[in-house]
Amino acid sequence: MKYTKPENLENRLTTELLPAVRSPGRYIGGEFNQIVKAFRADDLHFGLCFPDIYEIGMSNTAVSIIYDLVNTLDYASCERIFCPWTDAAAVMRDKSLPLHTLETKTAACELDVLGFSVTTELCNTNILLMLELAGIPLLAGERGEEDPLILGGGQIANCCEPLADFFDMFIVGEAEDALPELLERLHMHKTAATPRKEILLDLAKRFEWLYVPSLYEFEYDGEEITAFKPLVEGLRCRFENAVVKDFENAHLPQKPIVPFVQAVHERVSIEVMRSCPGRCRFCQASFSRRPVRVRSIEKIVETAKANYHATGFDTISLLSLSTADYPWLNELVDRLNEYFTPLKVGLSLPSLKVDKQLELVPKMAASVRKGGLTIAVEAASEKLRRVINKPITDENLFKAIDQAYQNGYQRVKLYFMAGFPGETEDDIRRIADLSNDVAQRRRRFAKGAAEVSAAVSWLIPKPHTPLGWMGQKPAQYFENVKKIILDRKYELNARSVRFKFHEIEGSLLETVMARGDRRLGGVILNAYKGGACFDLWRENFDFQLWKNAFSDAGIDLYKLAQKQYGEDDILPWQHLGGPERDYLLKHYRAALEEANES
Ligand code: SF4
Repeated sequence: MKYTKPENLENRLTTELLPAVRSPGRYIGGEFNQIVKAFRADDLHFGLCFPDIYEIGMSNTAVSIIYDLVNTLDYASCERIFCPWTDAAAVMRDKSLPLHTLETKTAACELDVLGFSVTTELCNTNILLMLELAGIPLLAGERGEEDPLILGGGQIANCCEPLADFFDMFIVGEAEDALPELLERLHMHKTAATPRKEILLDLAKRFEWLYVPSLYEFEYDGEEITAFKPLVEGLRCRFENAVVKDFENAHLPQKPIVPFVQAVHERVSIEVMRSCPGRCRFCQASFSRRPVRVRSIEKIVETAKANYHATGFDTISLLSLSTADYPWLNELVDRLNEYFTPLKVGLSLPSLKVDKQLELVPKMAASVRKGGLTIAVEAASEKLRRVINKPITDENLFKAIDQAYQNGYQRVKLYFMAGFPGETEDDIRRIADLSNDVAQRRRRFAKGAAEVSAAVSWLIPKPHTPLGWMGQKPAQYFENVKKIILDRKYELNARSVRFKFHEIEGSLLETVMARGDRRLGGVILNAYKGGACFDLWRENFDFQLWKNAFSDAGIDLYKLAQKQYGEDDILPWQHLGGPERDYLLKHYRAALEEANES
């Protein structure tokens, strides 16, 4: 590992990169509250990489926490690196300008460790773009002693086999406690100049949450996995999620960075609870991040005040998978209102649960900025909600909606999903019926129907969920769902309802990348070399490039997406944290029974 202070890179960026790109603010750094530690060559230099553009990365709470946390360590420094948009990437290639940090404009290849926070499978090619621009070999096996170690983390680490060829190691689970332990060990190895292979072996032996893909191999029989085993005797074959034990006192930034370019969410964001007491059977976040932990009101209020005074943001966002389940939400909202309402600072809550929101709606009407009411219904029929274990009744849903209308709400956002087991055409038509009913109910309390915006996405049977054994429905099925919903909307003359459908091909790719094994590494590489990048961005996503890459690798993309795993199959993700198999299988069988598919 090596580190040299930057020489003229900053000047070159100013004269050669910034004038040539559409949004130079993404590449400047130097924002209010940025942290630049005094340079010490012996420190461990960590590049926090986010494989999407600045505006997205700066809205990511994990990025904010890790940045602040690593910079508190006295033996380490942390600088940010976001993925350059296509215009900047082209200039950087053309002028041989390396990927670099925002803080000190240090070339990424000169750092000791690059840690990628990966939240979606549709960023895989961006990771390769960042490595290429950094001048680091894309394949872990081709890296040498001089290259940084490439670390992965985030939700994707729980199903990271498709990325196995590109990463040296992954933290499986939550990073706040695990990362400092890992960095301390890496700092020791830097001081001792330990060779790269020895470092990885030491870490793999030491930490039950650290996965080093190159130390393991799979055996296959055709498409099936027949074995997963270590290449070094004695290494563990199952990794446990790293879990933050003392969530109350886990690191929370007090002075978040104020972005230069408007970020997607420009607000004080405080995580009030981790995990969710619900167990919706499609929900990876809930099944793979346990147990449920909550922060005290005191801690949240004090952090909100500190963040507000350090940034001037005008909204406080209370984050969690399911903030309505925060046990003292009423009291928390009161406490925050008491302080922030006179300052004209609003509160923002993510989507609410209908059974919990009744009591909150009046308070929200008084205090929360009203973009509208957001409810994740997921399935329109009560029968399907039982299949997915989302216990909402229509009666409760309508009660909550009525209360919102009585309190002046005019807009409602509904989230649905299609592709569940046991789903019928009636269930699908019900999506249009229910959305229209929700819109029309407003007439009982006010003039005119509500504006309802209904987003429909396609079920991705995610790893570590009970539905993970199922295949995804074929693309044609989802095309048909769209048609049924739109036909029904037309029949109902539901002009107050607007439907938005997710990209079918994008969700197909996401399914394959979430559920596949490490044989997909070649596909990702082919797709990237063929030009795939920023696949999450509609204007950039080119499905044909992926079809070509799958076909070149001799892998049937559609068959893989629809692959139904058997209960005894070795799953490509089963060694990577998550709940016990028997627990998931119990839920899976219960879902099939409800759906009459067992
Ligand atoms: S309520 Fe939301 S976060 Fe909780 S399990 Fe269901 S889908 Fe997941």
